[in-house]
Formats: sequence, structure tokens, C-alpha cells
Amino acid sequence: MEVEKLEYFRSVLNDEMKALLGEAGKTVTEMNSDASNFPDPTDRATQESDRNFELRIRDRERKLINKIKDALDRIDTGEFGVCEECGDPISEARLKVRPVTTLCINCKMEEEQKEKRQ
Ligand SMILES: [Zn+2]
Repeated sequence: MEVEKLEYFRSVLNDEMKALLGEAGKTVTEMNSDASNFPDPTDRATQESDRNFELRIRDRERKLINKIKDALDRIDTGEFGVCEECGDPISEARLKVRPVTTLCINCKMEEEQKEKRQ
């Protein structure tokens, strides 16, 4: 892939990372600020489930952040935009929609088929 395009994807990934880290930081602050002082057990329970929800989101964010880091690594090593399954180039249209992807559309579809059968 051309350097210009790689740099384009690098900036897209960096922006997404910054947005996610901003969100993640906010969640932690909110969790710390209202973590206690709920004497009513009902409120307490609601608060707990809210927090589980937050943690699930954080888990998803963390996974996405790792994927973005991997994608940035692949830009550095020159593997970005190459399908890790079959070695074919991943289409730019696909990378624009999902820059963290590591599979070309054919391999992705095969993977989804396999998942459905399981
Ligand atoms: Zn492939």
C-alpha cells in the first residue's frame, strides 16, 4: 500500500484511539465519583447493574483499543491491508469502513459461515 494511504489510515486509527481513550477516562471518573453513599439497598442494586453495564462497555472499548494498536503495528511492519488468512490485499473500501480488520472480505465471510455452523 502507498505511504500516503498508510498515513491516512494511521491518522484515522489514531483519532479513533484518542476518542476511545477519552471515553474510557470519562467512565473511570464517573465510576469513582458515585461509587458509594447509597444507603438504600434498591438504589445500591441499580447502581451495581449500572456499573456492570459500564464494565461491559469498557471491556468492548479495551478490545477495540487493542485492535487499533495491532492495526497501527501492522502499518509500521508493512502488513497493514494484507489479509492474515490468505495474504491477499484487503480492499480499501473495506479498510475505510473498518480499518482494524485483518481479514479480506472472502475470508471474513468464510469465518462468519463457520461461526454460524458451530
Ligand atoms: Zn483473505
